[in-house]
Amino acid sequence: MERRARLAHVIFLIGLEGNAKMAETTIFTKIINHEIPSEIIYHDDLVTAFKDIAPKAEHHILIVTNKPIPTVSNVEPEDEAMLGHLFIVAKKIATDLGVKDSGYRLIVNCGPDGGQEVPHIHMHLLAGGKLGGLGFPQK
Ligand code: 5GP
Repeated sequence: MERRARLAHVIFLIGLEGNAKMAETTIFTKIINHEIPSEIIYHDDLVTAFKDIAPKAEHHILIVTNKPIPTVSNVEPEDEAMLGHLFIVAKKIATDLGVKDSGYRLIVNCGPDGGQEVPHIHMHLLAGGKLGGLGFPQK
């Protein structure tokens, strides 16, 4: 494994461990609780959406479950309605941004190889012009 990928893997596992011990203290939970600043554009009982701090497209919104589940690999049947709600909110945000019909991309990264940096389930909504293709694994 390349050094950078190995480092990302270790950081992710540390995050997972920390998350398991103190699930309420992910950076996203701090944003949801207004403990650190962010541009929150939507909030309800199940999810919170805010602008990504390092946007990869003209519009880059993170839609985050209020419940701090680390990754999709940790979801349980009881989470089904909450996870489905991510799509309902994604559609609402896409509508508000005016991209409902022109198109947008929804991404959920899972684990180190999936490029997940923050161990707290979230959906990326990317929009604004034609987006590039999806990537092959990095060599
Ligand atoms: P992941 O790689 O886990 O799928 O995505 C994490 C995303 O969270 C990245 O796009 C990153 O830019 C964003 N992010 C990380 N820390 C912060 C933060 O403190 N505030 C905001 N708004 N976004 C963040």
